[in-house]
Amino acid sequence: MGETRWKVHVDRDACVSSGNCVALAAERFELTDDGARPLQEILVADEAVVEAAEACPMEAITVVDAADGSEVAP
Ligand code: SF4
Repeated sequence: MGETRWKVHVDRDACVSSGNCVALAAERFELTDDGARPLQEILVADEAVVEAAEACPMEAITVVDAADGSEVAP
Protein backbone atom coordinates (compact mmCIF):
# COMPACT_ATOMS: atom_id res chain seq x y z
CA MET A 1 0.00 0.00 0.00
CA GLY A 2 1.24 3.45 -0.89
CA GLU A 3 0.82 6.54 1.20
CA THR A 4 -2.61 8.11 1.33
CA ARG A 5 -2.84 11.08 -0.98
CA TRP A 6 -5.24 13.95 -0.74
CA LYS A 7 -6.45 16.42 -3.31
CA VAL A 8 -6.83 20.03 -2.17
CA HIS A 9 -9.02 22.63 -3.83
CA VAL A 10 -9.68 26.29 -3.00
CA ASP A 11 -12.88 27.86 -4.32
CA ARG A 12 -11.54 31.29 -5.30
CA ASP A 13 -15.06 32.68 -5.60
CA ALA A 14 -15.74 31.82 -1.96
CA CYS A 15 -12.30 32.79 -0.60
CA VAL A 16 -12.22 36.18 1.18
CA SER A 17 -8.41 36.21 1.56
CA SER A 18 -8.57 36.01 5.36
CA GLY A 19 -5.22 34.25 5.39
CA ASN A 20 -6.18 31.62 7.98
CA CYS A 21 -5.04 28.81 5.73
CA VAL A 22 -1.63 30.37 5.09
CA ALA A 23 -1.19 31.11 8.80
CA LEU A 24 -1.90 27.48 9.70
CA ALA A 25 -0.17 25.79 6.77
CA ALA A 26 2.27 28.17 5.08
CA GLU A 27 3.94 25.29 3.29
CA ARG A 28 0.58 24.22 1.80
CA PHE A 29 -1.14 27.44 0.75
CA GLU A 30 -0.24 30.86 -0.59
CA LEU A 31 -2.24 34.04 -0.95
CA THR A 32 -2.47 35.58 -4.41
CA ASP A 33 -4.23 38.69 -5.69
CA ASP A 34 -7.39 36.68 -6.27
CA GLY A 35 -7.39 34.49 -3.18
CA ALA A 36 -5.58 31.55 -1.69
CA ARG A 37 -4.35 28.61 -3.68
CA PRO A 38 -2.85 25.27 -2.70
CA LEU A 39 0.87 24.98 -3.39
CA GLN A 40 0.36 21.32 -4.18
CA GLU A 41 -2.97 20.11 -5.52
CA ILE A 42 -2.12 16.48 -4.71
CA LEU A 43 -0.16 15.76 -1.57
CA VAL A 44 0.61 13.06 0.94
CA ALA A 45 -1.98 13.23 3.74
CA ASP A 46 -1.12 16.14 6.03
CA GLU A 47 -3.27 17.13 9.02
CA ALA A 48 -2.25 20.77 8.50
CA VAL A 49 -4.50 21.02 5.44
CA VAL A 50 -7.42 19.62 7.47
CA GLU A 51 -6.81 22.25 10.15
CA ALA A 52 -6.69 24.92 7.45
CA ALA A 53 -9.89 23.68 5.83
CA GLU A 54 -11.66 23.66 9.19
CA ALA A 55 -10.35 27.15 10.00
CA CYS A 56 -11.50 28.68 6.73
CA PRO A 57 -14.40 31.04 7.52
CA MET A 58 -15.94 30.44 4.09
CA GLU A 59 -15.40 26.67 3.87
CA ALA A 60 -13.63 27.49 0.62
CA ILE A 61 -11.07 24.72 1.08
CA THR A 62 -12.07 21.16 0.26
CA VAL A 63 -9.85 18.15 0.88
CA VAL A 64 -10.74 14.80 -0.66
CA ASP A 65 -9.04 11.44 -0.84
CA ALA A 66 -7.21 11.43 -4.18
CA ALA A 67 -7.92 7.74 -4.70
CA ASP A 68 -11.69 7.65 -4.30
CA GLY A 69 -12.80 11.28 -3.97
CA SER A 70 -14.26 10.78 -0.50
CA GLU A 71 -14.42 13.94 1.59
CA VAL A 72 -11.69 14.46 4.18
CA ALA A 73 -12.45 18.08 5.16
CA PRO A 74 -14.09 20.39 6.06
S1 SF4 B 1 -8.81 30.54 5.05
FE1 SF4 B 1 -10.34 30.37 3.40
S2 SF4 B 1 -11.07 32.46 3.04
FE2 SF4 B 1 -9.15 32.60 4.21
S3 SF4 B 1 -7.54 32.82 2.64
FE3 SF4 B 1 -7.72 30.64 3.09
S4 SF4 B 1 -9.18 29.84 1.57
FE4 SF4 B 1 -9.40 32.06 1.61
